[in-house]
Amino acid sequence: MAIRRIVTPPNPTLRKPAHKVKSFGEPLQRLIDDMIETMRAAPGVGLAAPQIDVGQRVIVVEYAEGSEEADSEVKPKLYAMVNPEILRTTRETSVGQEACLSLPGYIGEVERFEGVTIRAQDRHGRPIRMKAKGWLARIFQHEIDHLNGVLYIDRASQIWRVEEADQAQGVPVV
Ligand code: ZN
Repeated sequence: MAIRRIVTPPNPTLRKPAHKVKSFGEPLQRLIDDMIETMRAAPGVGLAAPQIDVGQRVIVVEYAEGSEEADSEVKPKLYAMVNPEILRTTRETSVGQEACLSLPGYIGEVERFEGVTIRAQDRHGRPIRMKAKGWLARIFQHEIDHLNGVLYIDRASQIWRVEEADQAQGVPVV
């Protein structure tokens, strides 16, 4: 495994719709392993392939649901998804703060759907379907946006400059 370099604007891969993955062989396995390692090293709770300059529809997320609560001891769960799509959303939305590994030094306030149903394939091409709500749903929406060339600053109602130290304070970096 290897840590890949996370790219920032104006890298064009960040702004292009990524390609559908059709081959689940060794190169994809290596890509997913590298993405997991890169996300953990950053550290972040999500990463999309365009963030490491790879225009493929692959995301990884590692997040402990409920970890926003102070005394939580929930173990983080790792998701690796290929060709993910949002099938359904709740009608309710919520506004929350997001930070992005591709936009270091900023946080923004973004409105997202409170819940989403996602269809994807796992790393071996098997179909997955899952429901997510709250922060986990927000992270998936942020990552799937990356696959479509969309950054959270396109959706944010407000953006702030922050010190890196502040960024670690409870805002998921994805
Ligand atoms: Zn991001």
